[in-house]
Amino acid sequence: MSGFVHLVGAGPGDPGLLTVAGRRALEQAEVVVHDRLGTEELLPLCAPDALLLNAGKAPGRQAMSQDEINESLVEHGLAGRRVVRLKGGDPFVFGRGGEEAEALADAGVAYAVVPGITSAIAAPAYAGIPVTHRGLSTSFTVVTGHEDPTKPSEQTDWAALARVPGTLVILMGMGRLPAISAALVAGGRPPDQPAAAVQWGTTPRQRRVVATLATLADRVREEGLGSPAVVVVGPVAGLADRIAWLERRPLLGHTVVVTRARAQASDLSVRLRELGAAVVELPAIRIERLPVSPALTAALDGIAGYRLIVLTSVNGVDALFAALADRGSDARALSPATTVVAIGPATAERLAAHGVRADMVPERFVAEGILESLEGTHLDEAATLVARARGSRPELVDGLRARGALVDEVELYEAVPEPADPEAIASAVGAGHLTFTASSTVRSFMALLGPAERAAVAAGPRVVSIGPVTSATAREEGLSVHAEATEYTIPGLVEALLADVAAAAPRS
Ligand code: SAH
Repeated sequence: MSGFVHLVGAGPGDPGLLTVAGRRALEQAEVVVHDRLGTEELLPLCAPDALLLNAGKAPGRQAMSQDEINESLVEHGLAGRRVVRLKGGDPFVFGRGGEEAEALADAGVAYAVVPGITSAIAAPAYAGIPVTHRGLSTSFTVVTGHEDPTKPSEQTDWAALARVPGTLVILMGMGRLPAISAALVAGGRPPDQPAAAVQWGTTPRQRRVVATLATLADRVREEGLGSPAVVVVGPVAGLADRIAWLERRPLLGHTVVVTRARAQASDLSVRLRELGAAVVELPAIRIERLPVSPALTAALDGIAGYRLIVLTSVNGVDALFAALADRGSDARALSPATTVVAIGPATAERLAAHGVRADMVPERFVAEGILESLEGTHLDEAATLVARARGSRPELVDGLRARGALVDEVELYEAVPEPADPEAIASAVGAGHLTFTASSTVRSFMALLGPAERAAVAAGPRVVSIGPVTSATAREEGLSVHAEATEYTIPGLVEALLADVAAAAPRS
């Protein structure tokens, strides 16, 4: 089979700005050759067995040269592999994507180009600067500032650019900002024309400076802005303060650690990023289905006979239906007469996805809440199945038995500690907030830490917990809990985090 290479624009840094076509190509790639800038957060989309080649500088290793990159693309393409060349922004905007396409064309390797959102437009947009605006600018010019404006061999005609009336967007211009500004003023741009620099645009590290053409270089130096940054020159730069929206997000400047299992982290991480947070994903646990036990086999054999089935997590639902599927069965194995109880809305939603509507969701999403919601139900001698994680708290089963229920408790899955890389641990220890969505994540997270890190975590980040059970575990592990969700769900956790941030820094 012949290979195929996609030259994919990764967008400017915000992982949400990858295109749908780019995502599909990444998910299907066997080999991914990626840059360092703006692509890291997309790599988790790749298949676990994909070969990832970093073309940028990495610790202890030189960056790949353009020739080496071209050769690598051609080689993997000719070997019949599906290859993605993942490049920051758009591949053809100062990305040397054109050279890569030429090399592939010359070698007869099939390829396609997936354009990306260029930082030339996106970084200004995230800083509140529209590159065109009615009445202010009818064109924009994107230019590299890489070339030295004081040298005669200069390809960029700054004097000519100064005379073009529209917006000027300069990439790679930070190193030569004083000379570029001077050349533009010498060419006729008014010194008091608005000008802005946006560093790390669209990422949680985004910073901007808005000044004038005459003052921008000094202001950038004072504020300590550097590469990578986009410089915008023109009246539209003056709109930044009015249009800026990114800075208004409540979690901007806050680093939040997500300790959920990787497979479940994304909804929480996406929400936190939308709110402006820098998210550190440090999955403390991994969910593993347990081998089918005789107790589970017996429970599934007799599943239609239960009066009550209680599910206490999304993972429990998935594991139960996976176990049914293994036997060639599905939701129809449950009797319509069975009362199905879900501990909370997420569990109920997952049940619905498997075709079962929960008969009951308690008001408090903890084991005790289930007992409370069953208060009016006659449980004496009621055949009851409680399907859940290994090591779950005994309160639920004890409570049901105390009410006379005949409870079969089956363990379906286990939260297994996940080894973490030291860099992620270091960022977690230095983060502003730690979030915990279950007792198992607290215990596994703390087990990842050495004594010094434990002390640092106890004194440093603020701890946000999904509910009282998780909070109690956190306290047992030596943490203070600074905020606890009132509704024991992920949205409830986010609300608690927002309230904690707002209380710490009251906004005017
Ligand atoms: N192909 C890329 C540009 C590559 S050249 C694109 O379309 O965006 C690298 C330059 O792009 C940097 O020096 C900087 O000027 C700009 N750049 C890339 N990512 C950026 C970001 N997130 N914020 C600001 N500028 C960025």
